Amino acid sequence: MSILNTMGVRSRMVALITATITPFLALIAAGIIFSYSEADKATRRNVALDAELGAAKFSRVFRDAKVVLGTLRGMPLLQASDRLRCDSFIQKVLAGQPMFITMGVLDATGKIVCHNKAGTEGQFGDMDLALRIAQAGPDELLVGRFMIGPISKKPTVAVAMRLPATSSGEQLSIFGALNLDAFYNIAQAIAGETNHTVALIEPSNQRVLVRWPAIVPFGTEFSNHPLIKAIADQPRGGTTFSVGFDNVHRFFGFAPVADATGSSLTVSLGQPEADAFAAVQGRASWSIILAVVALITAILLSAFIAYYTQLRPLMRLVQKSERLGEGEFSSRVVMEDWQAQEFRSLATSLNETAAKLRAAQDVERRFRLVAENTADMITAVDLAGRRTFVSGASRDVLGYEPNELIGGAPLDLVFEEDRERVRELFRRTRDNASGGSEQYRVIRKDGKLLWVEVSGRRMFDESGLVFTMRNISKRKAIEAELETVNQQLSRLAITDELTGINNRRELNRLIEFEATRSAREGTPLSVILIDVDHFKAFNDVYGHVEGDRCLKEIASAISGAIRRPADSCARYGGEEFCVLLPNTDASGALHCAEVIRAAVSSLNITHTGHEQGHITISLGVTTALGEAGQEALFQSADQALYIAKATGRDRVSATVMSMMAETIKMELTSA
Ligand code: GH3
Ligand code: MG
Ligand code: MG
Repeated sequence: MSILNTMGVRSRMVALITATITPFLALIAAGIIFSYSEADKATRRNVALDAELGAAKFSRVFRDAKVVLGTLRGMPLLQASDRLRCDSFIQKVLAGQPMFITMGVLDATGKIVCHNKAGTEGQFGDMDLALRIAQAGPDELLVGRFMIGPISKKPTVAVAMRLPATSSGEQLSIFGALNLDAFYNIAQAIAGETNHTVALIEPSNQRVLVRWPAIVPFGTEFSNHPLIKAIADQPRGGTTFSVGFDNVHRFFGFAPVADATGSSLTVSLGQPEADAFAAVQGRASWSIILAVVALITAILLSAFIAYYTQLRPLMRLVQKSERLGEGEFSSRVVMEDWQAQEFRSLATSLNETAAKLRAAQDVERRFRLVAENTADMITAVDLAGRRTFVSGASRDVLGYEPNELIGGAPLDLVFEEDRERVRELFRRTRDNASGGSEQYRVIRKDGKLLWVEVSGRRMFDESGLVFTMRNISKRKAIEAELETVNQQLSRLAITDELTGINNRRELNRLIEFEATRSAREGTPLSVILIDVDHFKAFNDVYGHVEGDRCLKEIASAISGAIRRPADSCARYGGEEFCVLLPNTDASGALHCAEVIRAAVSSLNITHTGHEQGHITISLGVTTALGEAGQEALFQSADQALYIAKATGRDRVSATVMSMMAETIKMELTSA
């Protein structure tokens, strides 16, 4: 697993190609192994055959020896008791037979009775052969074992045949010690021009009688030699791959020497391994070289193809994905037309994704530009009510840096009393697609209270809400100022400029209001009209400025004389005043008028043009008991005033707005 994890596309491709060509490599390897095996078999066949041929050649030596000894068997001289003649005869025979180095005759006990070297006596060197031959058949040639001839002092193998029994019944045998040089020559002849080795081996004694090329003396013993063991194991001949007597590995074929009766003599023929495999090795080397070249070419080609068709497009796609992840949307993946359909599709969809993201990024950039450059503070809030974005205007509006506010809850800055409304705004904005707005107070970082107007909207993807907060403190201050001005204005509209009491317009309004009410409730409504006595003369004497001041004093005296909250006074015009007494009957009104008259009189404003020497007023009172129009009321009061003037001034006169008016008028006037 871990190896797979670290393998890139290129190495995987190489692995794939390697896996694909591996069977072909295996086929080549199998071919080579097969060739070697065939060469092995052929070599073994050849060496076996050559060994058999070699054995046949050695065999002829023994056949020849048999012919020679067989011929000599019939010679009577050999059986004669004349030792001198026998020795001489053998000597002559030997001279014509170079294949033997010595010849002679033995008795049944192995004692030499005749020898080419005259007079030789004693026991025969190969006693085993001497004893065996005594028991052998009449035409049998027996082969002895390797020995160093006791007389010749040379290495040799003896052969022997039984002679016919003598007339005295004695059993004699003829023997010849073979000249091993002849075997050496045969071995050399078998090898010929080849680099084969040829040896005549006596496995029963673990000896090598002769070997071509000669590396050891004739008859050298090799104990436990693997080749000799192999020969001993397969007495009928065979093959083996083994180390030779010179410690070189060879294929050996071996075959017993057929006519070497009674011995284990075997011919071995060795072919060097390198020799056997020379042809195969050449072919195998070429096969291996070609296979390696093919493998390297395949790997290089596959790596090359993998790079251009798999790795490079993949790397481009991976790089693009990474850039997208890092927020870089501007570059495009270029994918050639010849690339795989899958890569092209991937590139197209990546490019499309990048374009979409780029468009979204542009929108967001523009939004931020707007957000950062507007005086209104823009806040994005997630659905949990935490700020996720705050525009730079927060510094001016609230005195906080944007990052001081991000993550916080907008409610924390809201003035305690307004919080419920803000919660409601949040709910409204969240649940309503058209959003909502609210005015409330927030606490700035410096602790000051600030009036703000906040409008909220749901984000188009419903991931949160966006609020715009505007500082409306100035507007609020102006509104408050306007309110005061308005109040002042409305007060001015109903106030007499000179005296500060109600003006004629307000009087009209109040009379209409009170007249309607008293008619509705069935209560009396009284009106007092007041006129300053001889005021023209006052002006004439003291001037208008003094006259105005006098009017002010009279006004405040009147205003101070009326007590009930519903009562009101107004300047009716010039030096005339009017007092309105709702829910006041005629007698109450008369009383009130008298109080006013006394109050003004007691001001004691000097008036030299007046017979009394100070300012006085005349008052006309009227009381309406039912529904009465404003005009009628004034008319009635004016009548009463007229009477007061006419009857001497500084007094109160009254009229009642009814059928009884005349009577009452008379009464009051007299009083
Ligand atoms: P009487 O009412 O007693 O018959 O005599 P009178 O002098 O008051 O007569 P009249 O009502 O005709 O005169 C009113 C005078 O009051 C005229 C004017 O000189 C004076 N007057 C009216 N309005 C004002 C005002 O606003 N200021 C001043 N200083 N004088 C005024
Ligand atoms: Mg007047
Ligand atoms: Mg007057």
